[in-house]
Amino acid sequence: MMTEKLLFSELFSSMKINNLVKFYRKKINPKHVRVRLITDKSVDGAFIGGWFNPFWEECGDPTPIEIDVTVSSKDYKISNKDRGLYDELFITTVNHEYVHWEQVKQKRYDKMSEEEREKEAYSRESLFEFLSF
Ligand SMILES: [Zn+2]
Repeated sequence: MMTEKLLFSELFSSMKINNLVKFYRKKINPKHVRVRLITDKSVDGAFIGGWFNPFWEECGDPTPIEIDVTVSSKDYKISNKDRGLYDELFITTVNHEYVHWEQVKQKRYDKMSEEEREKEAYSRESLFEFLSF
């Protein structure tokens, strides 16, 4: 298993959100995960959400996993104090969706209930490094 420790806060003193998203894009396989930066003025600060589409190929989606970083403004800055939390949230979100993709690849997804899928994904997402398979 490939492992990658991410110690972003030791590398940079401060970062604008668009640069952080660019940094995250370099950490993932672009054939697996698309990371989008979305601006929404109604949002307070920034949050990260993830989606897995088991029918991505049929739908013509570029990747099975999409991670959306939603911010109030493209000029939003992540403080040093908060960046560890965003890194952890990003990795956790990617890992969660990877677990769902693994369920499909291992032909378990269709046999599981939604509750079983989520239970497994939540139990395996919280590593401080990316899952790989
Ligand atoms: Zn899930």
